Amino acid sequence: MNKKVIVTGGAGYIGSHTVIELIHAGFEPIIIDDFRNSKPWIIDRIQEVSDAKVLFYEVDCQDKDAVETVFKAHPDAAGVIHFAAYKAVGESVDKPIAYYQNNVGSLCVILELMETYKIQHFVFSSSCTVYGEPKSPIVDELTPIQKATSPYGDTKITCEKITEFEQASKGTLKAILLRYFNPIGAHESAKLGELPQGIPNNLVPYITQTAKGIRKELTVFGSDYNTIDGTNVRDYIHVVDLAKAHVAALNYAINKSGSFCEPFNLGTGKGTSVLEIIQTFETVNNLKLNYKIGPRRAGDVEQIYANANKANKVLNWTCQYGIAEALEHAWNWEKTLN
Ligand code: UDP
Repeated sequence: MNKKVIVTGGAGYIGSHTVIELIHAGFEPIIIDDFRNSKPWIIDRIQEVSDAKVLFYEVDCQDKDAVETVFKAHPDAAGVIHFAAYKAVGESVDKPIAYYQNNVGSLCVILELMETYKIQHFVFSSSCTVYGEPKSPIVDELTPIQKATSPYGDTKITCEKITEFEQASKGTLKAILLRYFNPIGAHESAKLGELPQGIPNNLVPYITQTAKGIRKELTVFGSDYNTIDGTNVRDYIHVVDLAKAHVAALNYAINKSGSFCEPFNLGTGKGTSVLEIIQTFETVNNLKLNYKIGPRRAGDVEQIYANANKANKVLNWTCQYGIAEALEHAWNWEKTLN
């Protein structure tokens, strides 16, 4: 089997860490990214960290002709890992059309070209948002998918459905849908990490920017939830562990016979509250964070964490890092940024 893998969004947060792990595992990633949510120097960093030359194409995944030039140059690629997408829940409410066009449009371009070039192995970036507000906080892959409460969430459900229908219709795809819980942290080298644009929406980048003095204070969104300490509970997973799961998923798809479309939860299996994140961040980095308790944020799920037994068993994958390391790495990364 050829070791080339096309990675859309390969300069992004999860994409860049996955490219590193693919190289470590002997794959030859080919990145497609147009830097709308990254920077060209991330490619240099990927090469520095991996000590390898990485092929890269500056292309918008909605542009079928441009993406086809990449497939034409690499018709022998073993598979595609598709990260390229918009990811901000709040922004999606303001710009629904942009979210559907980009997230759903890009997926259709990729699946069509995979069919044309007879590339079978596909790994898709999905999200635990597909479970909505679950009846029980711990969810496995059989937990029902719920009606989305944001355009972002709906694009993930829609993309999963399109992939399932495409697989059922053509019977050639070997597809894996990876449902991420909350990715946090950065590369241990502090050379790669998240680059939020403007004011961060996510908890950990907001914390690191507050610790650095870029933001005045963190607001904890609600302390009256029915949870361990009243704040929301999530399953925070180190981005490098998440990246390694993509390699495991790709290998699983390559080694499994037949055509399929299978979902996997990617989380640690452990729930952590917002206050626990703040306390751990303060302890591991030996600093005090300026924060206050504020009102609830609209649309937040009370608590959700993964039953990741399926990924642990079937993909032979487990998390190696805990939140302490993730929060230390996130801070080390933040300190390198201007
Ligand atoms: N959160 C918070 N303050 C912030 C950002 C996030 O209290 O400035 C909380 C949010 O309410 C949620 C958790 O942190 O309970 C994780 O939020 P994030 O946006 O990172 O991920 P989500 O789980 O919403 O996808």
